[in-house]
Order: sequence, then structure tokens, then C-alpha cells
Amino acid sequence: MNKRFVKPEKHNRRAKKPALILAILLLIITVFFTVNLISKGFNGKEDLAYKNNKVFIYKEHKNIEFDIAYTNDKSLNKALEKNVESIFNANSEIFLNKDKKISVKLSLNNDKNLASWLFIEETDNFSEVYGSLVFNTKNDEVITYEKILGEDLKGLSMLVRESLAKEEGLLYNRNTYTKTVPEPDNFKYIMLDKDKFSILFKRDTFDLDKVFEAKLDYEAVMPYLSDQFLKFFDKDYIKPDIANVRYIDPHKPMVAMTFDDGPNYPKTVELGEHFAKHNARVTYFVLGSRMDADSETVLDMHNLGHEIANHSYDHQNYNKIDDAELKRQTTDVSDKIKALTKQEVVLIRPPFGSSNESVRAKIESPLILWRVDPLDWKFRDSAVVYENIKNDIYDGAIILSHDLYQTTVDASKKVLDNFSNQYQFLTVSEMFAYKGVPLNNGELYFEAKGR
Ligand SMILES: [Zn+2]
Repeated sequence: MNKRFVKPEKHNRRAKKPALILAILLLIITVFFTVNLISKGFNGKEDLAYKNNKVFIYKEHKNIEFDIAYTNDKSLNKALEKNVESIFNANSEIFLNKDKKISVKLSLNNDKNLASWLFIEETDNFSEVYGSLVFNTKNDEVITYEKILGEDLKGLSMLVRESLAKEEGLLYNRNTYTKTVPEPDNFKYIMLDKDKFSILFKRDTFDLDKVFEAKLDYEAVMPYLSDQFLKFFDKDYIKPDIANVRYIDPHKPMVAMTFDDGPNYPKTVELGEHFAKHNARVTYFVLGSRMDADSETVLDMHNLGHEIANHSYDHQNYNKIDDAELKRQTTDVSDKIKALTKQEVVLIRPPFGSSNESVRAKIESPLILWRVDPLDWKFRDSAVVYENIKNDIYDGAIILSHDLYQTTVDASKKVLDNFSNQYQFLTVSEMFAYKGVPLNNGELYFEAKGR
């Protein structure tokens, strides 16, 4: 009898072992999911990360492969795939007729709850951008460029233009300005990298072989983003006043006021600070000898945004000196200005405006003369100097003056104050750039006449 009872007991024990393992497993799984749920409850989504690349085919269009960088968040990936439609539709003319492999690059901003994808095609000597998508990773919603960008984009235009001039040498290209006017549609391809806010442009925008990417600092861009979008970055961020940000409109009249024979502290500074305060710029044609004595003033003016140009070392007539001396008066001074300011281009104005053909052939810089001369050195009277400029000022004019005299400083300030509604006050380089007039080495320029 006992044996009969023993046997089933043994049998039972054997049967209980797998049940116990199963129970432990269930417990582990339950604990795992509970911990996971709690952590999600506290931290929102689990930390996003790049997971892998996988080819995605949109609606059987097998000629177009989207090589997508996925995250470890399935719902976000789904949201991305859903939005491929908008990229496809925006490029349907190309995508329906050509074979393409599009890289869909990911940039994750975990602490800002932002994910951004860029649709780009790249080979060694070619690239093209087809779209970009920015997501709020808290709710997987797309944030369109219209929602990212603020209302006043003038400052953003200027940042992009500066980037174009620096990266692509596109300073002298009127098309550059037309394609960067402050409208949201011009800045629609946005990639949010960790350190940089990138705005991308299709290759034909600026007639380049590759996509142009303006990599901008967040700090510089933030004033031009929408209040709504700024909350992702800093809830307490207060926008600076951008109503008076410097913006140049190529279609509005402009002049370049130039000041020779300085630096001449403190007059140079009084002039430069007044212009800078009113978002205006001037060009100082400095003497190398005076710059040697006071490079601080020159650098200060450069830092205010004014242009530093070369007016020789010590005001010698280029036509009356030998080649070695010509080099000392031109190239050597320009090199010093470049070293001090990091300006890439240094314009030259020959003393007395004198340069014969053989001199010009040796000068590796554009030569900037003038059409408007108020004879400020002769009339040391600010009212007369002001009247002279007032009578002769015109769109594209280069105005000659000297920051040697207080009367000139007073007259110039009055010109700015009374004419800033009609004219934009630019540096010489800016005026030629915005007028679309290229500056060539060894050539004389009296004014900037737009095409
Ligand atoms: Zn001079």
C-alpha cells in the first residue's frame, strides 16, 4: 500500500520541478516589465538610441531605396516610415523616374526630446537633399519647419549668407541673396545635430555640385526660432530684441562711406561706434605706419563689423617708387591687416588715388577710388561737409572722407542719422557683393553699379 503512495509522490515531485521553473520565469518577466513600466512612467520613453540601418521601400516603389537609420523606439520608427510619404510626394517627379538610394540619416537629441532625419543622396562628387523630418520624441509628432522657424528671419538670412561667403566664397553672387531672403520656404531642410543647427540647400540653389549645409551655432540661431520650438531647448529662454537686427536688402539703395589716413584715436572710435550702434558699417583705409602705432583701434573697428582696408604704409605715391617699395606699401600692409583681423580680402586705395597701368598690373588687390568727395580736409566745417555729401550722395556711391577731423566725424554721423531711411550704409566689400559686382585684382573701382 505504502509503495503505491510513494510512487505517485515521487511522480508528483518530478512534475513540480518544471512548474517551479515556470513560476520563477514568470516572476522574472513580471518584475522586468514592472520595473520597465515604472521607469517609463517616470522618464517618459526609454532612452533612444541608434539601432541599425535597414532599407525601407515605400509603397512598392522598388527603384527608390530609403536606407533608414532606425532608433530603438518602434513607435518613433513607425512614425518616420509613415512620414516618408511626404518626402516621396515632394520629390515624386524624380523618384518615379529614376533609381536612387537615399540615405536617411539620424541625429538624436535625447535630452531635448528631439529626433531629426535627413534624406540625402551622396557620392564622392555629388550630393542632393530631398527632405528632412524633425520629431518630438515624447509623442512622435512631426515638427514642421514652419513650426520651428520664428516670424522674423532677417538675422537668420544674414547668418546663412555669412556661412555661404565663408564656406563657398559666394560673397559676390547676387543669386545668393535672392535665394536667402527671409522667408521660411528658403530654410526648410533642417537637421538638428548635437552641436549645430544645420540648414541645407539643394545643390542647384547656388549652382554647386553638392548640397550646401550652413552649420550654425544654436546660440546664434535661437533668436530666430519660434517660441514654441524654443521650449525644447530652454523653457526660460527670453528672446533678445531682433526688431533692429542688421539686414541688407539688395534691392534697396546703398552707399559706402570710407575714411582714409587713420587710425586716429579717439575720432576713429567715436565714428565707428556711432555707425555700429545704428547697424551701419564703414570702411577704414588705414595707413600701415599708423596701424603699427595703434593696432588696438584697428582691431576694435574690425570687431564692430567695419571693414579694414589698406591705404599704403606711409602715404607714398605708388607711381614714384620701385617694386620693392611698392610691395612694402601694398602687399606687406595687407598681410598685416589679414594677420590682425583674419579678413580674407583686403582692398587697397592708392594714396592721392594715383596708380598708373604698370603699378596696377603688380597689385594683387582691387583698387577702390571714389566718386563723392566732400573735400573734408579743406572745409573743416561740419555743416559744409554734410551739405557736400548730401548734395552728391547716390545709390552705389563710394564717399571719400578722413577720420582725422572732428568736423568730418560730426558731418558723417549726421549723414547717417538723416539718410539711414533712404540708404543702407555698407562696407565697400558688402556693397559690391550685394550689387553683384565682382571685384578683380588690379582694377579700379569708383562706384558700385548694380546689374
Ligand atoms: Zn590719404
